[in-house]
Amino acid sequence: MPNRIVVQKYGGSSVANVERLENVAERICSYSLQGDKVLVIVSAMGDTTDELISLARQINPNPSDREMDMLVSTGEQISSSLLALAIHKRSLEAISFTGSQVGIITDTDHAKAKIITIETKRIKKELNSGKIVIVAGYQGVSINKEITTLGRGGSDLSAVALAVALKADICEIFTDVEGIFTTDPRLVAKAKKIDYITFDEMLELAARGAQVMQTRAVEVAKKYNIPLHVRSSFSKKEGTIIMEKTPNNIEDPVVRGVTLTESEAKITICQVPDFPGFASMVFNKMTQGNVNVDMIVQNMSHDKTTDLSFTVSKDSLSKAVKLSENIAREIKAGEVLFDENIAKVSVVGVGMRSHSGVAAKCFKALADNKINIGMISTSEISISCVVKKNDGKKALRVLHKTFELEKTK
Ligand code: ADP
Ligand code: ASP
Ligand code: MG
Repeated sequence: MPNRIVVQKYGGSSVANVERLENVAERICSYSLQGDKVLVIVSAMGDTTDELISLARQINPNPSDREMDMLVSTGEQISSSLLALAIHKRSLEAISFTGSQVGIITDTDHAKAKIITIETKRIKKELNSGKIVIVAGYQGVSINKEITTLGRGGSDLSAVALAVALKADICEIFTDVEGIFTTDPRLVAKAKKIDYITFDEMLELAARGAQVMQTRAVEVAKKYNIPLHVRSSFSKKEGTIIMEKTPNNIEDPVVRGVTLTESEAKITICQVPDFPGFASMVFNKMTQGNVNVDMIVQNMSHDKTTDLSFTVSKDSLSKAVKLSENIAREIKAGEVLFDENIAKVSVVGVGMRSHSGVAAKCFKALADNKINIGMISTSEISISCVVKKNDGKKALRVLHKTFELEKTK
């Protein structure tokens, strides 16, 4: 089918060095030569974003959000222009743009800006003139004309949003693994590639820590029903299709995948006077401070006081601890404790909607392996347990085996 609009996103590891960048350029050219209009979204090379963040922190441990966005957005600007040069060398026309240049308009929330609209005029013009268009991922420009970024892993979101805006025929996410696996294949050697997965399951896997796709990108793909093909930039093999309804078996497997995240920390406010409205007070303060809270456990009240524990992202730990200490002082609670040495393992599957017993099986498997559970939370299609950081990888392997995910077809 000539003249398809093909959107392709290449992640950081796919363009980590000159050789890989050239390999990506080859692949892009092969699509263009078969008549496709190709729009490429590219991430920063390798670990560039992390390196830029640590550079900034060396200079100022409390950098301003605006300057951080100015800084980290440059990573994608480098890779996009280099990619255009690699395509020129192959005698095809290509043009690179920043997010701002192509009119990816966002709100003003630096580091996690939301896309409001995308002006497609310039991209369409260049595609129609036969050029390969390359857009720097992860970034936009705010309604106040400031450079913004879309949250870590945000190039996935740039790609999906541009695919929506251009009504693309295909949206491919190229990465360093062959698709979506039953768990992170770098942590569990027996992880199996999944051919098809629903938006709902992918959303839950991503939200629980499977970093292969950014959660917000999957949300947008689901909202606009844009199937995504996640595949390797190192091979020609078919990857995983993420879609609304998968053509798998008549019945879905109960458990589709397991995840591990070490990016959260736990806060406990001790000896809280047990009065109505306390939880609302704590979590309102967290919301006002822009701190996202994940799991919450309030223990039984004894002596008319209770302990309240919750998890937050490690990035916002110091802010969350400060807020908690202020509240504890205000209401005459006890001390505020925090623990960074935790990991969260999660079991995910839409089949859990109609099958009971998954939680019991999960807890028994962890207990049989002497892994203590610190906190538990459940959703309709997932169960998460907080364990000691040292037990995290073992817990992941135990759960993968318990639910026989290595036998996934
Ligand atoms: P990119 O730079 O292409 O955006 P990421 O590093 O963001 O790549 O995501 C790819 C990585 O996600 C893989 O290398 C893999 O280690 C990890 N990963 C975690 N969970 C999964 C999973 N369930 N399936 C595939 N990869 C996963
Ligand atoms: N470079 C950004 C990050 O490392 C965006 C991305 O890779 O998608 O988070
Ligand atoms: Mg990524």
